[in-house]
Amino acid sequence: MATFQDGLPDLTRTNPETGTGPEVYVETYGCQMNVYDSQVIEDLLERNGYRLGENDMAADVILLNTCSVRDLAEHKVISRVGEIRHRRSKAGLPQPLIGICGCMAERLGKDLRKGPRRVDLVVGVDSYDTLPDILRELTDDQIRSVPEAMRTQIGHRKDSHYVAPPALYPTNNSHLVTIHKGCDYKCTYCIVPYTRGPQSEKAPDTILDEIRGIVDAGGREVTLLGQNVTAYRWGEDLDFAGLIEMVAGVNGLERIRFLTGHPKDMHPHLMDTIGRLDKVCPWLHLPVQSGSDRVLRRMKRLYTSGDYLEMVDYARRVIPDVTFSADVIVGFPGETESDFQDTLEVVRRVKYDQLFSFKYSERPGVPAARLEDDVSVDEKKRRLAELIKVQEDVWIGEAAGQIGKVWTVVAEGLARRPAGSWKLRTPNNRKVVLHGASLEIGQQVRVRITESTNTTFVGELLA
Ligand code: SF4
Repeated sequence: MATFQDGLPDLTRTNPETGTGPEVYVETYGCQMNVYDSQVIEDLLERNGYRLGENDMAADVILLNTCSVRDLAEHKVISRVGEIRHRRSKAGLPQPLIGICGCMAERLGKDLRKGPRRVDLVVGVDSYDTLPDILRELTDDQIRSVPEAMRTQIGHRKDSHYVAPPALYPTNNSHLVTIHKGCDYKCTYCIVPYTRGPQSEKAPDTILDEIRGIVDAGGREVTLLGQNVTAYRWGEDLDFAGLIEMVAGVNGLERIRFLTGHPKDMHPHLMDTIGRLDKVCPWLHLPVQSGSDRVLRRMKRLYTSGDYLEMVDYARRVIPDVTFSADVIVGFPGETESDFQDTLEVVRRVKYDQLFSFKYSERPGVPAARLEDDVSVDEKKRRLAELIKVQEDVWIGEAAGQIGKVWTVVAEGLARRPAGSWKLRTPNNRKVVLHGASLEIGQQVRVRITESTNTTFVGELLA
């Protein structure tokens, strides 16, 4: 059920003609928070009589749930609007209503209603409850004109929180559970505090009810989601460590993952808790962004590379089998070759399983936009390529050490290829493929690792 935590409209009303309304197709861009929000949107619309479509050629309404983190992500969405219009007109089909939801809606607002690629409606991250009514007006033939003000719904409501329906749409067999929204940190390159607003926590009881609902519906694994989950705080006493302790107490739940943490909030107390609770998977995604203290200061990341490495060492001591992944930005304004080499050094030291590396992309309005973007595009590309190569070498070494190891893994579904193979995941988030096995989604089996290919291992089933 899509609903709100406190004092906001009751979204549970259901149109008596459920399933006979216009067909809506939701396309998701960006992070897991958007995946979760798309589930909320779909549930909300379905409960209000809309049909959910599976492709852009048949739908009456197409909603693009968007990301603003990088310039490229926004360009993709604008091109996609043009592509949809073109494909529909080439096929002689009526034009759908196109709406932009999510971060781009918050950042660009009414501007998305202008120009050749203008869309029909713009709905930001805290306004999805308005969608059923707006769409009803926009799709009603009797209503000739919908007021312009109604077509753009943006702005933040701190205490509104969505709850996605239980058990639907697990991502890799893990059910996403948003525990808070927004962010109070002000990393100088980041658009999130502006598009998602200030940090606001979902109440612990709401989170626990949502997870119990997932377990009742057969789910066994949750991923606690937020821009900055490790900064979760409810009242004076409950921090993220306390929250995962409460979540671990949910009967029937077997695994807890979380995304994304901030290195500054990885206190020993939190790492001790993660290491102590069997249900919490030993995988930490902790964006380092740079290995240079000078750059980290300019990014306002609130830790030094020394703090970060100390935290990694501590985690390795107290969290058995812990693995790490991170985000890195290359070519931040003022980044010198020596700063970049510091980043490579951190990557070699930490030995990440996975690195999500990006060239710095200036976002209008953020503090870093006032700094001169002085690393050339070619130099950014070169640094990115070098970083990727260093990470590949790190991983090849790490992966070789895994051959022959035995893991208990969870089946997530059929692999895309080869046919008949299964994809599984270790508790510390490593992907394993098993050929020729007959499994069920969610089943736990023991495998021995026999080889590795890129970031995926191949395993053999043990009795
Ligand atoms: S902590 Fe993450 S979401 Fe918050 S401002 Fe920094 S990068 Fe953005």
